[in-house]
Amino acid sequence: MFDYIVIGSGLSGSTITNLIAGKLNKKVLLIEKRYHFAGNCYDFVDENGIMVHKYGPHIFHTDNKKVFDYLSNFTQWSSYKHRVLAFIDGQKVSLPFNFNSIAELFPEKISNVIQEKLIKKYGYGEKVSILDIKESKDKDLAFLADFVYKKVFKNYTLKQWGISLNELDASVAKRVPVFIARDDRYFSDCYQGVPVKGYTKMVENMLFHANIKIMLNTDFKDVIDINLGTKKIYFMKEEFNGKLIFTGMIDELFNFKYGYLPYRSLKLDFETVNEEYFQEAPVVNYPNDYDFTRITEFKHMYPINSKKTIILKEFPKDCKPNKDIPYYPIFTAKNQELYAKYQEEAEKFKSLILIGRLAEYKYYDMDDAVERALEVFEGEICNGK
Ligand code: UDP
Repeated sequence: MFDYIVIGSGLSGSTITNLIAGKLNKKVLLIEKRYHFAGNCYDFVDENGIMVHKYGPHIFHTDNKKVFDYLSNFTQWSSYKHRVLAFIDGQKVSLPFNFNSIAELFPEKISNVIQEKLIKKYGYGEKVSILDIKESKDKDLAFLADFVYKKVFKNYTLKQWGISLNELDASVAKRVPVFIARDDRYFSDCYQGVPVKGYTKMVENMLFHANIKIMLNTDFKDVIDINLGTKKIYFMKEEFNGKLIFTGMIDELFNFKYGYLPYRSLKLDFETVNEEYFQEAPVVNYPNDYDFTRITEFKHMYPINSKKTIILKEFPKDCKPNKDIPYYPIFTAKNQELYAKYQEEAEKFKSLILIGRLAEYKYYDMDDAVERALEVFEGEICNGK
């Protein structure tokens, strides 16, 4: 009945489903555990008329024109530019740490010296990881690195991941570099914004196709069996000879046979506040205060007239298997080794394809997820490689 089965309707699953149905003209069954599609970028308009991101803030940003053009088939984008402040020493300064933050926190003379040295060493407009600046022998740059590391990264990272920044792959720190410029946008990619009618609507447009059947409220384990010995895949107890595209937790797919892959989860506390606005920016990070990492105020992303506003506090926590939502794969060398075992197991299945943050155990952003799905479609699916 179906040529392909896709498990998980987040951006990875929805992109590949859309391409198979639309471009290949093949029948796809999309299986989703939750009561809704769109994965963690699911959003909805609440009773106050405010657009809320149910699983935490999602801001689209990319330099990849192909990804942007592809998604633009399903939505228009607002001109929203994401801005983040960090609460440091009683002040809110802009993040990524940039020349404005330096000027706000240090006396003018020191600030000027640091700015000049940063330009001389790295060049204006460059983005540099805090881990690289930390290596600097220059005493002013070493002072800056030490300050930013302690005040912005150290405690936030401990809260967010439960381990220190040095234990995580260097790419995690690179996500929020020091920016040698006055630009205070959180992302400097050429395409950024949020879908005008929200991510859910965008994904709905991707999935609206006669070749696509969606099963919501369905745990894949109830309908799919994989035989680890014969490497056969079964759908509703019958052998399935098409391709299975899996976007869920890879360790769960293989029944945790090598043990649990660690993920980080979040407790999300939404509050309705009886004020027009709660804070001066869409997101304020609290590296050193409170148990939550950041507060998001959604009204900044989708401005509307309302006497109320919705805020979200994120409390990171360990992810208990079968209980909590796995938001983040924890990118350490040890965990990568464990992942490699599952990946090796997966490669033995000729008709199994893994894509997405959980199945590939990678800290993908939304654009990375779409880029990877496009790549797999054009390669493995269309050309068999
Ligand atoms: N980070 C930090 N302090 C901050 C912001 C980020 O230490 O104020 C570090 C932290 O380790 C975090 C990582 O940078 O997990 C990536 O931050 P990003 O804002 O990209 O996280 P996401 O939005 O994906 O949760």
